[in-house]
Amino acid sequence: METKAPRGTYDILPPDSAAWHYLEGVLRSTAELYGYQEIRTPMFEHTELFERGVGTSTDVVSKEMYTFFDRSKRSLTLRPENTASCARAFIEHRVYSGMLPVKWYYIGPMFRYDRPQTGRFRQFNQFGVEVFGSRSPYLDAEVIILLVDILSNLGLMEYELHLNSVGCPKCREVYREKLIEHITPVKDSLCEDCNQRYLINPLRVLDCKQASCHQVIEGYPTLAANLCDSCQQHYSQVQSILESNGVDFTHDDNLVRGLDYYTNTAFEIHIPGIGAQSAVGGGGRYDGLVEECGGPATPGVGFAMGLERLLLALNLLNLQQTGKNGLDVFVITAGDQFEELSFQVVQELRTAGIKAAKDHNGRALKAQMKYADRLGAALAIIIGEDEVKSGQLTLRNMGTGEQQSLAAVDAIDRIKEMLV
Ligand code: AMP
Repeated sequence: METKAPRGTYDILPPDSAAWHYLEGVLRSTAELYGYQEIRTPMFEHTELFERGVGTSTDVVSKEMYTFFDRSKRSLTLRPENTASCARAFIEHRVYSGMLPVKWYYIGPMFRYDRPQTGRFRQFNQFGVEVFGSRSPYLDAEVIILLVDILSNLGLMEYELHLNSVGCPKCREVYREKLIEHITPVKDSLCEDCNQRYLINPLRVLDCKQASCHQVIEGYPTLAANLCDSCQQHYSQVQSILESNGVDFTHDDNLVRGLDYYTNTAFEIHIPGIGAQSAVGGGGRYDGLVEECGGPATPGVGFAMGLERLLLALNLLNLQQTGKNGLDVFVITAGDQFEELSFQVVQELRTAGIKAAKDHNGRALKAQMKYADRLGAALAIIIGEDEVKSGQLTLRNMGTGEQQSLAAVDAIDRIKEMLV
């Protein structure tokens, strides 16, 4: 029997789960501050949704999907990302016929058959936002500001934001031809992938991971210099809104999203110093996506960020906030005959909203104390012969080791005071 989790996956055990609670709390509260509401979609979808909504020419769809047939021979895929699912839900529930825009956020696991390494997993968690139903450049800026605000709420002040505009299908078509013209004479010096894809999708050469491809195409015409007037204006507006809100960014000609339904803004955010996988989030505008997925033409903009990479950054910078994870009170039972009473006390504490537990393995007093410590208990109450006789409880501060006696009748109120 295999006792290791599958390659590229991992368990989160206590107390590490506390860091996740903390991170998810910051993500949710920041998104809600901006008026975003949570959407939850299934972990798997019809394969076709991702083929259309992410694109068959992307690595994610062509190489990285977990696709399987169910017992009725339907082709299903574990979601590699969540934007396509949000677009599907937007169409399925006819959200487009209500008041727009809608502003959604999500948190959950995604699945990609990628080569695992630091910061890269096969099951990983993303937080993301999607806004459907407005073309306003203020919303492009808003999602970016929200992303930056999340980083700053986490204490991650050092980041690099890369920004570009990929135009609209109209100006991109003209640009594509120019780019193909530039690449054709040097095509044989490109990597195999680029050599094959440059005619279908020359933009993909711009974000090729091979440095040599970048050298080969040096001096290439840029998207920014080839935008139509309206795309140029949209891009200038986004930049000036970011500037007036104090967000630093770098224009990056290589930042592209090669598919037709991506439009205008594209961005990526890196935290230098967390290793080769330094991108913590990325996103952009996708005015053609809802239509591509079978709905009415509806503009959209959003981003996704990786939770593992955020936690990695928090760890490396010693910003890990574990939050309060331990017990409030551990009830120590001094003698088997007090088992029932101590169990009742634990229940009373819980009823009063105090996190409480006790031993269930017949440990000696000292061993119970050690166990209480391991569970992160702030206080311990001892229940034994003396306590029962006197009606006084012995309360021990687990941090300082100080002990005091208190009347059983006001124990709950006193403990509550001590825990604040
Ligand atoms: P993408 O949809 O590829 O732009 O991903 C958005 C963000 O999700 C990235 O910036 C990463 O932070 C994170 N991410 C993507 N793929 C993985 C992976 N395989 N493992 C961990 N995080 C990932």
